[in-house]
Amino acid sequence: MTCQCRDDHLNNIMESDNLKAFGSAGEIGASCFLLTLNGQKILLDCGIHPKKEGYESLPQVDFSQGKPNTGLITHAHLDHIGALPLLTPQIPFFTTKASKSIAKIMLKNSANIQMKKYLDQPDENCIPLFSEKDARRAVRSLRTFSRSGTLQLRGKVFVNALPAGHILGARSFFIQTPTLSVLYTGDISLTDQITVKAADYGNIQPDIVIIECTLGAEENIAVQRNEQVMNFADQINYLFARRESVLCPTFALGKTQEMLAICDYLINSGKIKPVPIAINGMGAKITRIYRTYLKNRMPYYNPIEVSDLSYSTLNQLLESGPMIMLFTSGMLIEDTPSARVAEQILPSTKHGIFFVGYLDPETPGYKVLHNPMGSKIQLLKNKIPTEKLNPNIKSFRFTSHSDKTHLVNLVESLNPSKVILIHGEKAALENVKNLISNQVETIIPKRGDQISL
Ligand SMILES: [Zn+2]
Repeated sequence: MTCQCRDDHLNNIMESDNLKAFGSAGEIGASCFLLTLNGQKILLDCGIHPKKEGYESLPQVDFSQGKPNTGLITHAHLDHIGALPLLTPQIPFFTTKASKSIAKIMLKNSANIQMKKYLDQPDENCIPLFSEKDARRAVRSLRTFSRSGTLQLRGKVFVNALPAGHILGARSFFIQTPTLSVLYTGDISLTDQITVKAADYGNIQPDIVIIECTLGAEENIAVQRNEQVMNFADQINYLFARRESVLCPTFALGKTQEMLAICDYLINSGKIKPVPIAINGMGAKITRIYRTYLKNRMPYYNPIEVSDLSYSTLNQLLESGPMIMLFTSGMLIEDTPSARVAEQILPSTKHGIFFVGYLDPETPGYKVLHNPMGSKIQLLKNKIPTEKLNPNIKSFRFTSHSDKTHLVNLVESLNPSKVILIHGEKAALENVKNLISNQVETIIPKRGDQISL
């Protein structure tokens, strides 16, 4: 006890309150920040960069001033948890029970993908960061919040985990000491989705707000949501009237489940015909977790789980009458199930491909949506590119983030003295900064920066 007090005292002398940005600063990817409050070092998230490989994808952690006492994980997307097996069990990490269940599937899958990539094309730049066994060990060591969502750390530091919307299990962290309070949002949705309600911060008044800006360059996304749902239904009805099917490329975590819930709503309210809905692989596994945690609050239409993705099965599915296929990956990454189905649909004038999430400009999905008719797009490795002849390629926005108006309104209502903008592309970060009052100190850190709080 005496020893701990002395340690805390020494820490206080050594380092004042600050935030170090190890990743997701000036960009999106590899979310990881070290928050030092009252001598306590708290690691906020621990993700990898989705567009990089091997060691390049890791956050640039620097524990030269001392190892973190605690880690807090906001949610189970890989850009927030992907580097966890490299830091557990040295650091005790806390998250929600739902995020722990999802992390088990996400990290195992990440280990398998890294290994497969390396075996397919051995390259020292993409040596697997961890094995399936490391992933299991990391998840086992994850501690979970009690029902109250509170945690008391040494140095009179209190953590409150608050609902963040976004995806199942996601939390923001309100961290208080006797002299300073900090809100770290993680990824947030400030409007209700069917599967997850909006973020709810009650009446907190943080001194410092560290906020994500994924959609900082966009507006009216939330307002357009109902309009988008009805437009989605109209376009589906157009295909169903011709006995054709639709492929919606979806992310396994969050988007697959929300699209299932949207389709369930459209079928139950008679807005579209009751057709079969197919899901696959990771999307199906994570849907089972959603069902477990959401129980009867969110009854879903019972989807078909497709495990055989051979061409004969996919052709049979397409020819068996109208159907909605919610297949991963969301951006038609080469050789994934959605890319295999798209390869059948793209050169035909039958069926449709409806994108329902973000598309990175470098992915096949972006090219399928934006390239002109007649252009050729690589959907499968080692095969000739596929010609785009299909007129039914559409895009809808069902986001699980917040647009710039919502982000700025949130900052204004919280009324902090300092705002730190993270997790956004340059334009999005600058956009939000320009909209925040000049009275509030607003900082956009770069990777490696240390900010005094
Ligand atoms: Zn996320």
